[in-house]
Amino acid sequence: MKVIRLREGKERSLLRRHPWVFAGSVEKGKADLGETVRVESHDGRFLAWASFSPSSQIRVRAWSFDEAERIDAGFFQRRIAAAVAMRQRLAIQSNGVRLIHGEADGLPGLIVDRYEDILSVQFLSAGTERWKAQIADALLAETAALGCTRLYERSDSGVRQMEGLEPAKGWLRGGGDTTITLREHSIQLTVDVEEGHKTGYYLDQRENRALFARLVAQFGCQSVLNCYSYTGGFSVSALAGGATEVVSVDSSGPALARANAHVLLNGFDPAHHAALDADVNGTLRQMLKDGRQFDAIVLDPPKFAPSAAHADRASRAYKDINRLGLKLLKPGGLLLTFSCSGGIGAELFHKIVAGAGLDAQVDGYLLQRLEASPDHPTTLCFPEGEYLKGLVILKQG
Ligand code: SAH
Repeated sequence: MKVIRLREGKERSLLRRHPWVFAGSVEKGKADLGETVRVESHDGRFLAWASFSPSSQIRVRAWSFDEAERIDAGFFQRRIAAAVAMRQRLAIQSNGVRLIHGEADGLPGLIVDRYEDILSVQFLSAGTERWKAQIADALLAETAALGCTRLYERSDSGVRQMEGLEPAKGWLRGGGDTTITLREHSIQLTVDVEEGHKTGYYLDQRENRALFARLVAQFGCQSVLNCYSYTGGFSVSALAGGATEVVSVDSSGPALARANAHVLLNGFDPAHHAALDADVNGTLRQMLKDGRQFDAIVLDPPKFAPSAAHADRASRAYKDINRLGLKLLKPGGLLLTFSCSGGIGAELFHKIVAGAGLDAQVDGYLLQRLEASPDHPTTLCFPEGEYLKGLVILKQG
């Protein structure tokens, strides 16, 4: 077993059970891509069993802080079983559930979403790549009782590059049709694990989509603008809440085609829905010029700030769309606004939206703060895992 020795003082994060060691903290030691290493403090004390990433800034990712633990197929089976059992306790009313959420489940770099009988998996770190076969077998063994029989790999994310890994995509176990029908709260949506974004769909917004349907009904919203709609989850939720004039805006044609199909699939009148293949920022400006107004608006943009280094530019982008959104709302209208940027904390996001309100000369009641669904958990030891934050704002006037 190769040993990675840390510089003096750099043992602190591992002692606090934080799973990452950055390149600059390593005193000496080398290993192959994804190889399991023993990490020691400068004076030779055991800190963790970990995987080694020779080219990544995150040089070491901890598997276990228990010296007696062995990193083998059994280890992955135990971690996966624990994560799946936790989701069972959450009793999520859907056949689309995030079963493994990386670091939060003690499996850095591994993302597993269940869509009906398919597991859609991202292997994003050198360590998960090294153990891919064992992880795939353990995943299917531990989810057999849920009815999962097939595993599709979606390791086509850009973050693999930083780990020195090539993109990979396709069936790892089983095969067949890549599209399933997802049920969440009162609606149904089709998900294609081959063509969809990320693993296929954005399960992290499940509870917020359900909340939106309730809010639309409660506040009697008729006209709804869903910005960055993807396949129309919030749009169909709005129709379920009783909206009669829903506009989905996205720059992805295939996602919008699916949004239109989802309106029909759920038995809603297609005349109540319009899909706009366009850039959101430009669309909001044009709508403002045209004097359009809405009872409710959703802003769920992609990650504007991939890291804290991009926070400034991202802040301006968030402020801009929120300013436009607040202006386009009728008095008494509802805004659901989100940021999924890890580099923008909840407090900063709140400040950005407050700044947008000032610029728009709009005040609003902050009805609720939102976060990712509980199957995308954050842990006490790894607060960086928190990424999705949202606000429900009721425009005054
Ligand atoms: N709210 C969605 C998820 C949104 S993901 C849901 O509940 O499923 C972000 C979406 O923004 C993606 O579908 C992407 O195609 C779209 N997008 C990215 N940049 C855009 C832009 N400038 N204008 C319009 N849409 C954009």
